[in-house]
Amino acid sequence: MIKKIEHIGIAVKSLQNSNELFKKLFGGSHYKIEAVESEGVSTSFFMLGGTKIELLEATTSDSAISKFIDKKGEGIHHIAFEVDDINKEMDRLQTEGFELINKQPKNGADNKQICFLHPKTTNGVLIELCQEKSPA
Ligand code: ZN
Repeated sequence: MIKKIEHIGIAVKSLQNSNELFKKLFGGSHYKIEAVESEGVSTSFFMLGGTKIELLEATTSDSAISKFIDKKGEGIHHIAFEVDDINKEMDRLQTEGFELINKQPKNGADNKQICFLHPKTTNGVLIELCQEKSPA
């Protein structure tokens, strides 16, 4: 089941500059910075009520964020929905005809298991499913 919007991901050229900008906008600082090496990104998170804003900066030239910024410039990159059972949701959505970009859940920032749905099957919106990893 899809529960709520967990976060909105925004692609930025400079995490440092954008952290300052969003700090001014929100009147509060990011609560964490985290690199996800497997994705070639560095991220920061802001908390607004129950929803987060994730800023993503590319750390490699072949990361999805570099490609996105080259093509479209900075801006909203994805919307992430929290799910209670990511494997079940992936099966369900695939059966419904959505294309999964990764066929197995993968590790994302902020202690999450994630899966992306291809924007060509979601009206051009890159959608991330995420589930909090259970404590080890
Ligand atoms: Zn995300």
